[in-house]
Amino acid sequence: MIDQFKRAHNFNAGPSALPLSVLQKAQEELIDFRGTGMSVMELSHRSAAYEEVHHQAIRLLKELLSIPENYEVLFLQGGASLQFSMIPMNFLTREQKCGYVMTGAWSEKAYSEAKLFGNAYHAASTKEDQYRRIPRFEELQYNKDDAYVHVTSNNTIFGTQWKDFPDTGEVPLFADMSSDILSRPFDVSKFAFIYAGAQKNLGPSGVTVVILRKDLLEKANTNIPTMLKYSTHAKNNSLYNTPPTFGIYMLGEVLNWVKEIGGINEIAKRNEEKAKLIYGAIDRSNGFYNGHAEKDSRSLMNITFRLKDENLEKQFLAEAKKEGFIGVNGHRSVGGCRASTYNAVPYETCKAFSEFMVHFQQTNE
Ligand SMILES: *Cc1c(COP(=O)(O)O)cnc(C)c1O
Repeated sequence: MIDQFKRAHNFNAGPSALPLSVLQKAQEELIDFRGTGMSVMELSHRSAAYEEVHHQAIRLLKELLSIPENYEVLFLQGGASLQFSMIPMNFLTREQKCGYVMTGAWSEKAYSEAKLFGNAYHAASTKEDQYRRIPRFEELQYNKDDAYVHVTSNNTIFGTQWKDFPDTGEVPLFADMSSDILSRPFDVSKFAFIYAGAQKNLGPSGVTVVILRKDLLEKANTNIPTMLKYSTHAKNNSLYNTPPTFGIYMLGEVLNWVKEIGGINEIAKRNEEKAKLIYGAIDRSNGFYNGHAEKDSRSLMNITFRLKDENLEKQFLAEAKKEGFIGVNGHRSVGGCRASTYNAVPYETCKAFSEFMVHFQQTNE
């Protein structure tokens, strides 16, 4: 199938691979969307045809993630990066503090934005360990009356992932899940607020998903611009202004695809099998490849590793590229190698890459 469509072995970190069947469906419907004689991009966002797309996407996300009744699902713009600012703007008060668990570059960015609005502090940090691991629950330090505690569920750049989440009791737990939302089941009710840019596991860039507990809205700050208030979007079903309609349509189709292949448990199983292929090649290499993350913090979405010397690493990356593996370079800030194995990356692509790794080792050891 990959050959037939000249589909790349795509390990891009984001935007990243989308399911082929979703792209094909979008192609089929592109010019005449379900008998309207228009593309979905040409529909009014107030039309019944678009509203059906919009509400179906919200329904499907609620279903797939078993989101409880007392949560809102919002579709916003500005990426996960705008959430870094909107969160403290809406929820941090003069009297309160907010704790950030520092597990990588995205936590750092989220924390710096919060600092602009008030009293943000580090609730834990693994920076001294080069962000190779997720902190243990005992390491977390926060206060009972904090506005919230913020975690990054999967660290896209360093390749670590929380396996389980702390129970923070009365303190609202906030999570940036941009790079692992919908990759495995988790208990939404542990969180007060979840956000994710769509372009890793959910669809194209341009849509940001927010899942928030409704009671937060009552306590939110009011002296902020209308577009930057969560309550504006909640009151209007994310149709206060023109939403990114095509992106939301694509997101809905990706959710349909997840449902059709068996839902979140099936996706999680596939993700584990995929990651195992590549971690296996690392672990059986006797140090030829070195994983960046400590084993119990390993991400199933972004597999980061280095080779024992830099020249060999350059050669590895060049040969991977020549063999058609796209996006294997580590993030520009840390170097090394990274294979992002998001939901839509096929098993065959991961298998081909793990075989390439073994072959490269055999010819260059
Ligand atoms: C990609 C990513 C972001 C940034 O997302 P944008 O939509 O580009 O703003 C933030 N956090 C994490 C964990 C990410 O992986």
